[in-house]
Amino acid sequence: MSAAAEKHPKGLYVLFATEMWERFNYYGMRAILVLFLTKALLFDKVFASQVYGSYTGLIYLTPLLGGYIADRYWGNNKSIIAGGLVMAIGEFFLFFCGNYYDNAVIATPLFYIGLGCMIAGNGFFKPNISSLVGQLYKKGDSKIDAAYTIFYMGINTGGALGPIVCGYFGDTGSKGDFKWAFLAGGIAMLLSVVTQMLFQKKYLVNAEGASIGEAPANAPKFFQKIPVMVGFLFLISLLTIALVYIDIKVVSYLFWLLLACILFISFIIFSDSTLNGIEKKKVAVLFTVSFFVIFFWSAFEQAGASLTYFASENTERNLGFFEVPTSFFQSLNSIFVVTLAPLVAWIWIKLGKINKEPSSPFKMAMGLMLLALGYLWIATGVKGVGTGVKVSMIWLVGMYMMHTFGELCLSPIGLSLFNKLAPFKFASLLMAVWFTANAFANKLAGVFSALYPEGDKVTSFAGYQISNLHEFFMFFVFMAGLASIILFFLSRKLKGLMEN
Ligand code: GLN
Repeated sequence: MSAAAEKHPKGLYVLFATEMWERFNYYGMRAILVLFLTKALLFDKVFASQVYGSYTGLIYLTPLLGGYIADRYWGNNKSIIAGGLVMAIGEFFLFFCGNYYDNAVIATPLFYIGLGCMIAGNGFFKPNISSLVGQLYKKGDSKIDAAYTIFYMGINTGGALGPIVCGYFGDTGSKGDFKWAFLAGGIAMLLSVVTQMLFQKKYLVNAEGASIGEAPANAPKFFQKIPVMVGFLFLISLLTIALVYIDIKVVSYLFWLLLACILFISFIIFSDSTLNGIEKKKVAVLFTVSFFVIFFWSAFEQAGASLTYFASENTERNLGFFEVPTSFFQSLNSIFVVTLAPLVAWIWIKLGKINKEPSSPFKMAMGLMLLALGYLWIATGVKGVGTGVKVSMIWLVGMYMMHTFGELCLSPIGLSLFNKLAPFKFASLLMAVWFTANAFANKLAGVFSALYPEGDKVTSFAGYQISNLHEFFMFFVFMAGLASIILFFLSRKLKGLMEN
């Protein structure tokens, strides 16, 4: 293949930069979130875990709305700008909240408004930027997979830098400094919006040179004015604040809502008489893998909650010359993605050459197994260790490395499976299933994180009792290990259904 054929459009690098700054903002804030809640706002870990679960759960649910509205009214470009601005506003609310952390009457509303803005803004940013990547290319262009890989590097460059920069300024050991992390996140988000605004006209074009991401021609113009859009998103933020607040404080309903979403979507698809048997079998494969990824992400996303408590309280972070801030550990996953992804891609190519590349469901089962092994590693490190004792950071670092290998086996494969198998008519609806599974997993991650052992506290989930760190981590070994084994057994059957 000639060098020219390999060349990617410049627009890809614009989207790379836009997404990098946005992920910097998202992961930088996430690195601080439970620390801020427990150390500055003085909530307990159970409550902080619940906030984390409801927040990140809704982060994956609002993209359904953001994708829908962009397709019909706003187009991708403007949705990204409005969503990005609202996320920046969210960070600034959190910054003010951080200023008044010791006054609950002021800090509490500011905190929830900030969180609501992040959720609503993300819902309009994330699905639309991902969709633009594919639109830069002709349908079926073989460079699309590579484009998404490059884009994934952008995600993780931001994911690596955010926790480090925000952690450096905000996670200093002084309660009053957390606000700087939110400010840094807000500035990064503004950089993202500015990048998009400066370069979208010139570089976001398709293979024929026509602009992409524009609003549909017949959409009402009034609703496409940025202040109107931001105002609308602000209303959605208020709604999401209410949703988060009710879920945490009144009645935990989010699981049921998500379950209802999945059942409703499956009813729509399976009752559609225009789909033939083969298509329905492919859809069944997608539902099955969505079910299994719940076990993956609910254990993996402990990163922002229980594993951060562990980094803070049970990990020796003092290197003698430098004490590593707790939040830095949240950048490890992204650092490992950037460094290990080429190795994993190389392994698949090598195996492919000798006709031994595993099927997608098999790779996903491997991902779950690697996740279980990561937890087994850290469970070994804390065997016999009391809740207040600190262990070496190699346990956490090694675990994040194994988790990242797991992510690289499961996450990109899952997404491309949706692209390949979803019947055209239901492509977006099935993407919604994938997002809803992620939302479910993140909400569940909050529930699991609340089981984190402390003092003599004994917690339990589905009959499994947890009274120390070893038992806590073994819980994830059993859950992910069991899910992996079942998926290994199912993978041959799923492969058959896919190839039909
Ligand atoms: N780390 C990736 C991102 O932030 C993927 C996360 C996920 O799919 N749960 O986009």
